[in-house]
Amino acid sequence: MTHSSITRSTLEQEYDIVVIGGGTAGPMAAIKAKERNRDLRVLLIDKANVKRSGAISMGMDGLNNAIIPGHSTPEQYTKEITIANDGIVNQAAVYAYATHSFETIEQLDRWGVKFEKDETGDYAVKKVHHMGAYVLPMPEGHDIKKVLYRQLKRARVSITNRLVCTRLLTDEEGAVNGVMGFDCRTADFHVIKAKAVILCCGAAGRLGLPSSGYLMGTYENPTNAGDGYAMAYHAGAELANLECFQINPLIKDYNGPACAYVTGPLGGYTANNKGERFIECDYWSGQMMWEFHQELESGNGPVFLKLDHLAEETIQNIEEILHSNERPSRGQFHANRGTDYRTQMVEMHISEIGFCSGHSASGVWVNERAETSVKGLYSAGDMAAVPHNYMLGAFTYGWFAGNNAADFVAGVGFQRLMPNRSKQKNKGSTRPWTANTVCHPRKSSTSCGAL
Ligand SMILES: Cc1cc2nc3c(=O)[nH]c(=O)nc-3n(C[C@H](O)[C@H](O)[C@H](O)COP(=O)(O)OP(=O)(O)OC[C@H]3O[C@@H](n4cnc5c(N)ncnc54)[C@H](O)[C@@H]3O)c2cc1C
Repeated sequence: MTHSSITRSTLEQEYDIVVIGGGTAGPMAAIKAKERNRDLRVLLIDKANVKRSGAISMGMDGLNNAIIPGHSTPEQYTKEITIANDGIVNQAAVYAYATHSFETIEQLDRWGVKFEKDETGDYAVKKVHHMGAYVLPMPEGHDIKKVLYRQLKRARVSITNRLVCTRLLTDEEGAVNGVMGFDCRTADFHVIKAKAVILCCGAAGRLGLPSSGYLMGTYENPTNAGDGYAMAYHAGAELANLECFQINPLIKDYNGPACAYVTGPLGGYTANNKGERFIECDYWSGQMMWEFHQELESGNGPVFLKLDHLAEETIQNIEEILHSNERPSRGQFHANRGTDYRTQMVEMHISEIGFCSGHSASGVWVNERAETSVKGLYSAGDMAAVPHNYMLGAFTYGWFAGNNAADFVAGVGFQRLMPNRSKQKNKGSTRPWTANTVCHPRKSSTSCGAL
């Protein structure tokens, strides 16, 4: 299809709350906004399809950071995260997460998400970190998106798939009053008036190229391309902790985690070429990656995932979790490579860089109500700076954002959109299609009129 054959009409709509990003945090935000006030018109947008979008599209194998009474406390967890981040955290935001996380787990449990439980029916929390026990496995976590979708339908949230949001619109005082974007199938432009917007666009996972050079072969879900950060920035929102970006240990040549949270509690670990354990740090952090880098640079590299000392039934258990939930292609990858955890250590490497708060700390600044520094703009999940909050943090801050945005819009009317502003922004977004020259990726964003 050439650009001249693309039809481009502009469609205008109006919603009380628009949630951008239908992965993890977004569905929760939309559901909670509707539960708070069922009369609100809430729209959930994703550039992919909400049924299978985002980092948990194929499911997830566990909660990395569950603060469950009897196993850990919010105070202990907040202290650990503060240490892992060298003290550079908004403690109030971390503490708010920690205090609410158990309620979020109970909610997900009632909806039908399956967590591992012991013979008495208690959550079977595992210990990976030095101090607290926070890891709650989900060996049957492959249907989590189905569970969320059911709840979205039940709450009567409106959903628009395949819409790529490009910019937020703001009024004279700088408050957010709308969203614009384009349908990636029809190229139609959408301008949506909103009283509040919740950004849940995930990590900026394609900030760096993976070593394969394959654009979609990122550690992160590849549709999380950083648009959320850009939209927030252009609307005037503060960003935080960008220097604490994400790099993850990977299986070499495979764009998925190794994965310490699954293998660690079962006796697996990261080892150097002598089979010795060398990582001291227990959180994804600068220190962990520094330890990893040092080992690679020393005579002790490469580094490996070591499972070959484990019993057959333990390895089968690990395979069942790792090869059937999050990345079902992993079993196939090992089969094609001829690598078997039973007989050899499996070589690891490091991922490309990206902004992410879930695995590190970089994001849009939010307070403990999920409010950004821009009026009417909320954010949750990997793109909101609540360090190390992972999947459960995305759900929890999605919940906060939905509740608080619903309260906020109760006293707000629709603001007039400034037509010049949306026209100008629209022009920038369409330029790559209308320009006569092809936009080369190496050209600067301004010369290409980047989105
Ligand atoms: C490989 C991997 C393994 C992980 N393992 C674990 C684990 O075991 N345990 C754990 O607790 N956490 C884990 N996490 C972290 C967890 O999955 C994330 O923290 C969480 O899912 C993030 O949720 P989110 O809503 O912020 O982003 P996502 O769920 O990724 O959703 C973001 C959505 O925004 C959409 N979007 C982006 N830009 C736009 C736009 N411009 N317009 C419209 N839509 C847009 C995307 O299409 C996507 O659907 C893992 C993450 C990864 C990547």
